[in-house]
Amino acid sequence: MRVLIVEDEEKLAQSLKKGLEKEGYAVDYVMDGEAGQRRIEVSHKDYDAVVLDLMLPKKDGFEVAKAVRAADIKIPILVLTARDATDDKVQALDAGADDYLVKPFSIQELMARLRALLRRPEQALPIELTVRDLRLNTTTRKVYRQDEEIVLTLKEFGLLEYLMRHPNQVLTREQILDHLWDFAFDSFSNVVDVHMKNLRKKIDGQHSEKLLETIRGVGYRIKR
Ligand code: CA
Repeated sequence: MRVLIVEDEEKLAQSLKKGLEKEGYAVDYVMDGEAGQRRIEVSHKDYDAVVLDLMLPKKDGFEVAKAVRAADIKIPILVLTARDATDDKVQALDAGADDYLVKPFSIQELMARLRALLRRPEQALPIELTVRDLRLNTTTRKVYRQDEEIVLTLKEFGLLEYLMRHPNQVLTREQILDHLWDFAFDSFSNVVDVHMKNLRKKIDGQHSEKLLETIRGVGYRIKR
């Protein structure tokens, strides 16, 4: 899962990024409303959700949310409000936010809200993904092949989930990098190949039927 944070308090933005990354999310942040709006308009397909502060320089969160919805962009938006003012919350939801969180909050609360947003039916994200005898549960974050549990790292899990959401479709290294790593990550590194190799060992290692496929010079796919 990849999240964009729009927050002008850099310390808070950094600690949210750190906290979410520890849980396996990829996180980018920008620090004013204009930059936030631009990033959402240009790159919303690369993100699964936006965490949007309300009080921002250049353009406030209400305006950003309104502009994004006016452009018919449906990405889930979770608003952060400093005050426990009912007005702010109502106004934010009116502007097109999906939910709000009152500062200060814990990373656990933030993650619970994000998970809830990503589970909303309009997102149509199934809780259990299945490809042949491989099962992945997005809520418990457990993976089974032939009912035997396979223990994966956070990145391997993210990688497998991404592949299983697009069965039979070849995903390029660039797509995988974009989806699972930050913009800042060196796109010339072989980080995707290394993770794929480890993932393949765990998923296909002792099975005669191989599910993960390398399409040479292009990328990877999982066979249904
Ligand atoms: Ca602020």
